[in-house]
Amino acid sequence: MKVLVIGAGGREHALAWKCAASARVTEVLVAPGNAGTAREPKVRNVDVQASDFGGLVRLARSEGVALTIVGPEAPLVAGVVDTFEKHGLRCFGPRQAAARLEGSKAFAKEFLRRHRIPTAASVTVTRETFDPELVRRQRTPIVVKASGLAAGKGVVIAETAAEALAAAEAMLEGRLGEAGREVVIEEFLQGEEASFIVVADGSHVLPLATSQDHKRLQDGDRGPNTGGMGAYSPAPVVTPAIHERIMREVIEPAIRGLAAEGMAYTGFLYAGIMVARDGTPNVLEFNCRFGDPETQPILMRLESDLTVLCEAALDGRLDRVQATWDARAALGVVMAAEGYPDAPRMGAAIAGLDAAAKLPGKVFHAGTRLSGDRVVVSGGRVLCATAMGATVAEAQRAAYALADAVHWPGATYRRDIGHRAIAGLYIGANRSRRFARPALWLCPSRGPRAASGRSIAGFRTVPPACIGRIMPPLVWSLHRPVLENGEEY
Ligand code: ATP
Repeated sequence: MKVLVIGAGGREHALAWKCAASARVTEVLVAPGNAGTAREPKVRNVDVQASDFGGLVRLARSEGVALTIVGPEAPLVAGVVDTFEKHGLRCFGPRQAAARLEGSKAFAKEFLRRHRIPTAASVTVTRETFDPELVRRQRTPIVVKASGLAAGKGVVIAETAAEALAAAEAMLEGRLGEAGREVVIEEFLQGEEASFIVVADGSHVLPLATSQDHKRLQDGDRGPNTGGMGAYSPAPVVTPAIHERIMREVIEPAIRGLAAEGMAYTGFLYAGIMVARDGTPNVLEFNCRFGDPETQPILMRLESDLTVLCEAALDGRLDRVQATWDARAALGVVMAAEGYPDAPRMGAAIAGLDAAAKLPGKVFHAGTRLSGDRVVVSGGRVLCATAMGATVAEAQRAAYALADAVHWPGATYRRDIGHRAIAGLYIGANRSRRFARPALWLCPSRGPRAASGRSIAGFRTVPPACIGRIMPPLVWSLHRPVLENGEEY
């Protein structure tokens, strides 16, 4: 079978590489791809942009593509899956309505509230409804988020009310365009972050291996937020007990809730979680696709055939497949261009890729393109050097050996990816056993009928105590306007 991967980043290189490893797959097309996918065996780049739905449909038809996997959020939020379905083509990802979970943070927050899923207290404002007093009354730090897609640039963690006001006003005045038309003002959460990614088929979910990424630019988790400077899997913070809580308190009510509201969710669902000191899994955000750079280490650990999992999800039979994982840890170091994230410098030629290819692990490409037979920098995040090891520390050593083999002027990367796990928090790194996790059956007796808008059994299973935890007294004032509007929290 032929597979089409839509996108051009590191995530898409990893998806294409993993699909190409399947014995069922004859060729993987990537639209438009990068220099890494151009050089990958069994993989071919096609010059069709991810936003060109007509071109993508024509490509899938003319090439006889059996399965399309969508990498980035923008085409999902713009409805690429709906378009493919209209043309009778199999496309893995959520439809436009469900992709609003990522496309609109305001929508996501309302959804989380409706389904009693733990998240930071917040209020959504527009230019018309924004009241600076609301911000001044809050404790700092305070988080200000543009509701729409802002390519990782839409979140400001303000240390003072003045900073928060300035951020909110700039967003509402259009600094981020349409993305800032609505702004979410949110309580600052303490805890440790983890990325929890599942495959969903509307009524079943298959949790993938856990991971943690490093959003800040500089060592020690300092500096500005970025798209992600590195990631590793598994994430020590997600102990079996926390895993269980995330499934029960976040993933199950989300999948049930989406189905009940007529938006049955098929695709990768990414929950960015802040695990509180008491173990509460607060949702920071939902993404409607695989994470970048989490995809690279997670797929390196996946032993199962990714195309089989995606097809099972499209057929609604995720409960009949299993995912098996390499018990070793995997870790990816993102190498960025000079000036990233504000003004990355493009065009430098990258040296050392052939030497790196002889080392254990793999250098996934993101912002690269071919110029003749040279690979040159064409984006902010350029490469992700990814390797495995019996422990996170060993995976880290191997990943840095790979990264250190590659050079271009101004190349920049953190030296401490995985530091929290290596500091002793990592659980189970030395276990050599392999494990298989079957899909969880969420709606045994109802299944697809959940999409009819009925309320789903179990909807109210989150213990009332949890509601107390998501709305602590310190943010009560933040919620007063919401409560005055008569909305249920
Ligand atoms: P991305 O595009 O990278 O997926 P995003 O721009 O959609 O992210 P969020 O994931 O909501 O935005 O926030 C980015 C980062 O900001 C989070 O990973 C987290 O580190 C921090 N953050 C967001 N919300 C909060 C919060 N309420 N409390 C503390 N930190 C937060």
